[in-house]
Amino acid sequence: MAAELIDGKKVAADIRAKLATEVAELKAKGIAPGLAVVLVGENPASQKYVSSKEKACGEIGIASFAHKIPATITQAELRTLIDQLNGDPKVNGILVQLPLPKGLDEKEIMNRISPAKDVDGFGPDALGKLVLDEPGFIACTPHGAMKMLEAYQIDPKGKHAVVVGRSVIVGKPLALLLLRKHATVTIAHSRTTNLKEVCLKADILCAAVGKAKMITGDMIKEGAAVIDIGINVTAEGKIVGDVDFDAAKERAAYITPVPGGAGPMTIAMLMYNTVLAAKMQAGIPFTV
Ligand code: NDP
Repeated sequence: MAAELIDGKKVAADIRAKLATEVAELKAKGIAPGLAVVLVGENPASQKYVSSKEKACGEIGIASFAHKIPATITQAELRTLIDQLNGDPKVNGILVQLPLPKGLDEKEIMNRISPAKDVDGFGPDALGKLVLDEPGFIACTPHGAMKMLEAYQIDPKGKHAVVVGRSVIVGKPLALLLLRKHATVTIAHSRTTNLKEVCLKADILCAAVGKAKMITGDMIKEGAAVIDIGINVTAEGKIVGDVDFDAAKERAAYITPVPGGAGPMTIAMLMYNTVLAAKMQAGIPFTV
């Protein structure tokens, strides 16, 4: 039986429509959410991501302040820019598009972003709050994955969730969010010796690895919900996920496509975090 498609594009469009209404209401109260996007260098994928983010801001009514900077910028100059943005009242959220060009200390720059403006949710304050189950910015891609489950009424409570990948920006926060929703969570990674057996136990299987089609159909439990976060470009220039979609959809009950799943959700959740940041900075209580 073919799986039901989890339409990330549609879920994202619904979230963006609600945000557009909220932004209009905030503007009527004199609160105009603004996002600063810092792009260093000429990485084509980064340029594409940044223009999608700017477009989304425009559609929702969020002001976007683009800082497109040559790769020759020094660490000190970039630090100064972050400090300026931290102090700019028009800027509610700061996004530094990763990866930064070689020679720049990414970690130092990310940690310099004010916790109140860390709409990517990558900083120690946001991650600490996630571990502590306190309200805070949640990293956009894992948050988007959770919103897709919610939209399709897939309740993680009591289910076995397997997250393949343990990065700080996707795998680890996603595992914590699933735990927060009372799933029993297994995190797999490159040293996991029996990946197929681990995956076969998953009622909810999330792949965040970055290897085209590495999750094959025979690794999917019948009736599982499969969230594919991977973005991989094939030799033919096609974008595919970490999951072999055609084989997996024959066993899963729900599956996200790539593209059209986690990608649009990530941008929607960035917009969500920016609106949240604007509200928080205006003294409106923080809720996630
Ligand atoms: P990282 O490279 O930071 O992490 C990859 C993870 O996969 C690591 O934890 C690594 O394990 C694990 N891994 C590598 N090989 C294997 C293997 N053979 N078996 C099991 N685990 C393995 O990637 P990210 O988390 O940043 O991104 C993951 C994917 O998600 C990428 O394709 C990326 O493009 C995509 N992505 C998509 C986004 C979206 O908007 N849709 C946003 C962000 C990312 P170990 O820790 O042991 O090295």
